[in-house]
Amino acid sequence: MRVLVTGGAGFIGSNYVRQALTGAYPALADAELVVLDKLTYAGNLANLAPVADSPRLRFVRGDVCDATLVADLMRGTDLVVHFAAESHVDRSIQGAADFVLTNVVGTQTLLQAALDAGVGKFVHVSTDEVYGSIEHGSWSEDHVLEPNSPYSASKAASDLLARSFHRTHELPVCITRCSNNYGPYQFPEKVIPLFVTNLMDGKKIPLYGDGLNVRDWLHVDDHCQGIALVAEKGRPGQIYNIGGGVELTNRELTDRLLAALDADESMIQPVIDRKAHDRRYSLDITKISDELGYRPLVSFEEGLAGTVRWYQDNRHWWEPLKESAAVPEG
Ligand code: NAD
Repeated sequence: MRVLVTGGAGFIGSNYVRQALTGAYPALADAELVVLDKLTYAGNLANLAPVADSPRLRFVRGDVCDATLVADLMRGTDLVVHFAAESHVDRSIQGAADFVLTNVVGTQTLLQAALDAGVGKFVHVSTDEVYGSIEHGSWSEDHVLEPNSPYSASKAASDLLARSFHRTHELPVCITRCSNNYGPYQFPEKVIPLFVTNLMDGKKIPLYGDGLNVRDWLHVDDHCQGIALVAEKGRPGQIYNIGGGVELTNRELTDRLLAALDADESMIQPVIDRKAHDRRYSLDITKISDELGYRPLVSFEEGLAGTVRWYQDNRHWWEPLKESAAVPEG
């Protein structure tokens, strides 16, 4: 079996690859994994270092918009797991062109090549942000899409393109929409690694607006486990929400991180709110739980403590990234 993993050198994609190559997903026990990644600022070969010697891993540096390369890689592929994306909302507010190219055109390029090659399954990794913002209750998969940022709009476009390739061409596509991931190897522009690494260096942490925006937190191991289930057993044409079941305001999250790093609220630097900042995300995960037996297994307490420890133990991984990528310091 051959699996094409796009964006496999990023935060979530590399977790999936490391897990797959170390036996976490029995269905992929003997699979060959081909990683296609452009290595943008967010891609990092160091994320694959723990499995770099695996004879089952092949890395290809390239762009998901490169139709010739993608067609070539798609031949003989049984499963595509499509993670590659421009993924940071703040960057999409500064400029959305790369988001449309990679997230929309790149996804269309992959879908067309998968169709031409007769690929057996295509898992498109989407996001809960395509739904917009919800005051009460939780989104089920048939909720209307009302994305508010250029990032989430580009993800919604790619999500709908993936759906259309199933409806129009019967390409066996599954779409996953997950909540906010956290865990080791997350690029230090995202809130948890940014706050942890700032606090480790005695720097302030920038908290948006009133800090009352609510996010559902999902450990990256649980997310990738959900993706593996969808890849193996998900019904073609179906959408599956994948959540962690832990809703926190950004202020509550901040307080936990301050406590974990022995700091107090004087380290908080309030900053002007993000434009069109979604107030609350909340996923109903009944469908994936009932149909595929998905359960998030990592408790938030353990997952967060492990994540903080990982950043404390791996300064050599994140320090150069913070210096090179103009990550805000607060
Ligand atoms: P990331 O930014 O850490 O990694 C993205 C990877 O894609 C990088 O390795 C990058 O080099 C690669 N890439 C970017 N443009 C490319 C291109 N044109 N061609 C080939 N490779 C390219 O992102 P992540 O946090 O790992 O997210 C993975 C997926 O999960 C994305 O599709 C994202 O939208 C989705 N998602 C993420 C979260 C989250 O909390 N991180 C939540 C919901 C959904």
